[in-house]
Amino acid sequence: STMPPLLSAIANAGRHGVLAKSAVVMERLGRVDTVALDKTGTLTEGTPRLTDVVPLPAPSPTGKEEGVYGSDPDGRPKSGTDGRPGSGADARRRTGSGNGLGADRRPESGNGPAADRLLRLAASAEHGSEHPLARAIVGAALERGLVLSPADAFAATPGRGVAATVDGHRIEVGAPARLLPDGAHAGPARELEEAGKTVVAVVLDGRPAGLLAVADRLRPGAAGTVAALTRLTGRAPALLTGDNERAAQHVAERVGITDVRAGLLPGEKAAAVREWEAAGRRVLVVGDGVNDAPALAAAHCGVAMGRTGSDLALETADAVVVRDELAAVPAVVALSRAAHRLVV
Ligand code: ADP
Ligand code: MG
Repeated sequence: STMPPLLSAIANAGRHGVLAKSAVVMERLGRVDTVALDKTGTLTEGTPRLTDVVPLPAPSPTGKEEGVYGSDPDGRPKSGTDGRPGSGADARRRTGSGNGLGADRRPESGNGPAADRLLRLAASAEHGSEHPLARAIVGAALERGLVLSPADAFAATPGRGVAATVDGHRIEVGAPARLLPDGAHAGPARELEEAGKTVVAVVLDGRPAGLLAVADRLRPGAAGTVAALTRLTGRAPALLTGDNERAAQHVAERVGITDVRAGLLPGEKAAAVREWEAAGRRVLVVGDGVNDAPALAAAHCGVAMGRTGSDLALETADAVVVRDELAAVPAVVALSRAAHRLVV
């Protein structure tokens, strides 16, 4: 061919399913020596399904269950309660076992009226979010035939969650560690997380209302991709995720990653990348979410997953995986190295 080597490298990358935004990107891809991978939507398929709906009854001074799941059909917390979340012990007693998720509340068993109400409120609040978790929650609600309410004052915070007003109630959906900072209901959440699930807490008018869990599948070939990147760079990739430590470890163990950094906000992902860069490393970040955009921008080279990728991630990245195969990433790194050897 008469094409200059770098242009032919771009063409070759295209054949492998990667769209590089410039020839310079191809050079950079060939020079990376450190890889940081996002979890949700990058190592996993990014189309999680809702697996568990766990309403959390609020304690009351009278000993009767109150709040959304008590006798008040409108679910408005009654005045006269202290507004505090139930203790872990309380949640355990009420769910009928020592581990907080007794046989009477097995995963997938959350389909009573309280579960439907919890799911309907959460889905109504999540409707405006493009996050994979939001899509799982809204999809499950619609599958159950629940009718969503419009959300007012909707706000999404990348890496944290959403908040909105639904049917006059303030609803927050997000990471339990941030929404339930006093550790309330940590037991039930932990059990779900140990199964590799992502758990979000639902807070209603400032009180813990329940937990929702979703599970995502590993991408086929994720372990092979990690192995290929390890061979190419001489060190195993790191995992950067906003998700919880236990779900992160669950995925990391299956793909051969030991350097796991979980619970990161978008700025903290970028800070990890800048630290490596400051130590002289050239970092390749692969991600898909709005929450990955700062890390993609901070990296020597940022690659976004095209199918699951948010608009912001696609705009910020230097290259986009358009064929939705993670294996394209090590393939283009190898290609770029070969092309680079041609021109230097
Ligand atoms: P990841 O790095 O795995 O792609 P994110 O940074 O997007 O994850 O999200 C981190 C955590 O923030 C999630 O596990 C969840 O607890 C919370 N979160 C983010 N967006 C939402 C949302 N739309 N609804 C509920 N929780 C969310
Ligand atoms: Mg992601």
